[in-house]
Amino acid sequence: MKTHLACPHCRATLNPSVKVLLVVSYRSRKGMILLSPQPGNFKYVCDPTVEKGLEPGDLVKFACPVCHADLTSRRDKRFAELQLHQQGGSRRIIEFSREFGTHATFVIDGDEITAFGDDADDGDEINFFGA
Ligand SMILES: [Zn+2]
Repeated sequence: MKTHLACPHCRATLNPSVKVLLVVSYRSRKGMILLSPQPGNFKYVCDPTVEKGLEPGDLVKFACPVCHADLTSRRDKRFAELQLHQQGGSRRIIEFSREFGTHATFVIDGDEITAFGDDADDGDEINFFGA
């Protein structure tokens, strides 16, 4: 099933081919990162000038390469958000951790939240759910 990920601000498709292309930055370092469109697949290819020296827990910033909007989630600043469209499916939101080395992704469909990744249920989800 083809999955489209789109910018929540300008709605541009961010995976015109397979991988999702985003701008990633850490402090003054900025580059491109390729991510898998599949929730729970945490493989990525990052510009080494940005990735070099990052420590687990460092908060990187993701931005849309089309409109340059900051993709930080409005629900939880430790996450970045994108729109997720699947053929025949409803419009959902996908949120993934901005912490380097943290594997946590949430797919939000109205009130229904599905978690992916080893770090998605480490006790922080109370905050994430806004409860
Ligand atoms: Zn955009």
